[in-house]
Amino acid sequence: MSIFHKAIAKNKLVLLFLSLTIVISSNAAVHSKTLDSFFTKSSSSLVVAQAFNQTNFNANYYNTLAEADRFYKKGNLSQSRQIQQRVKIDFSTVQPTPPAINNLSQLDNKAKRYWNTATQAIKDDPQTEEEITNRIFTPLENLVKEYPAFVPGHVLLADTHDLYSEEKKALSVIEKAAQLYPDSKEIIDTQIDLLLLYGKTLEASITAREFAQTYPNSPHSAAYKKEANLHFEQYQKNLKSKIAVSGILGGIGQVATGNEGGALQIGQMLLAGEKSAGQSFAQSIKAQSNMVSNSTQLKYINDIGQKLAQLMGRDEFEYEFYIVEDSTPNAFALPGGKIFFHTGMLQLMDSEAELAGVLAHEIAHSVLSHSYKRLGESALTATATNLISSIAGREVGIIARIGDGLLSRKFSRGKEKQSDILGLRVLDAAGYSADGLYNVMAKLKKLQGESRGATTLLSSHPAPEERMRYLEELIQTKGYNRYGYEGVEAYRAVFPR
Ligand SMILES: [Zn+2]
Repeated sequence: MSIFHKAIAKNKLVLLFLSLTIVISSNAAVHSKTLDSFFTKSSSSLVVAQAFNQTNFNANYYNTLAEADRFYKKGNLSQSRQIQQRVKIDFSTVQPTPPAINNLSQLDNKAKRYWNTATQAIKDDPQTEEEITNRIFTPLENLVKEYPAFVPGHVLLADTHDLYSEEKKALSVIEKAAQLYPDSKEIIDTQIDLLLLYGKTLEASITAREFAQTYPNSPHSAAYKKEANLHFEQYQKNLKSKIAVSGILGGIGQVATGNEGGALQIGQMLLAGEKSAGQSFAQSIKAQSNMVSNSTQLKYINDIGQKLAQLMGRDEFEYEFYIVEDSTPNAFALPGGKIFFHTGMLQLMDSEAELAGVLAHEIAHSVLSHSYKRLGESALTATATNLISSIAGREVGIIARIGDGLLSRKFSRGKEKQSDILGLRVLDAAGYSADGLYNVMAKLKKLQGESRGATTLLSSHPAPEERMRYLEELIQTKGYNRYGYEGVEAYRAVFPR
């Protein structure tokens, strides 16, 4: 439990729903912003991962990897590795995140002074803003900044923000800490507590789920899984009563699903749960998109996808994989394990390891309920949009609007990281070269560089450097194998250049 919780019962849900009407005005450019999953906003200029600058994804590169594959398949893994090392440049040496510290006695006197000053002041309960800042927040912020490995510092700062009713700051502090130490029970528990306190039950469920799925061997994994389900049920209960009470969702939006029923209310879709919502929404996307029906290609992606999905630990989903005829290099995940690839993305890739890298990342979004959350947000936005559009006399296809929202809105940085962490673990466990996703990111970056200045959709997106650097760090610190199976010829046999 968090240390200080003011018992402020805030009902934010209605406000949340209503505020969505503000998101309307942007234009209906459905196809122009579809690189969502692969670009996370980088706020500062970051060092580009070194290896990328020296890597040439040319014919020689892939022919060499194909040669390595031949040894890999014969079980000669060391030979395969040596050959791969001819074309794969070493990653730069990353400074690993220092191990978490949980005990004040492990810190020096300066840190103890920060801690003691702040905790004493909290007990004294100063009344002026100046005192609160100087005696409590300044030392705590210094503690977190100068001793980021000290977990109780993050927790106390977050809880103290909560104590002074600073909800956003409390969540932001603990979210940053969770990105630093995603396996810290103390941090995750605080984050869940705060989210529940602020009525964010779905977020709380996702946070518990992330831990359970990412660290299946942890002794806490089962408890978090249970907690994730519990908070999810609570979210649905709240949603149901909200719909019953206010009619929000229920009366406004109808989504053509392609089902026999013809139309399904968005609210009902969300209430039906992840699996069912994914099914309905996949139907509607299929009905409105130019779907690729090449059975060899679909089987290939499905076989790899099923193999990866099995390692993710959510067996209640029915995983399905689709290809949409669309030259934009994109892939996206719907709730309940429905994954879509654009042909443009498949053309960008050159190996099974690259395909598996993207697949694993997208499946992870679905497994971690990120896609469900985003579907809810997008559907709600589309509802409001549709309503306003009708009033304004502009009839915009509601599915198109939802698709737009779903494809273009980026997941938060934290969610991208979580999907990378889980995705990479599974990619490595399946025996693929663990830099598969990294290489796709590198190619997207290259593509972005080439099109810079031109008025293409790529130039309007933030660079993927931050993601690449993080993937690089993850591979190194977790000790994942970059020299596993590449599957160059297997991929080319199914997706010829
Ligand atoms: Zn993503």
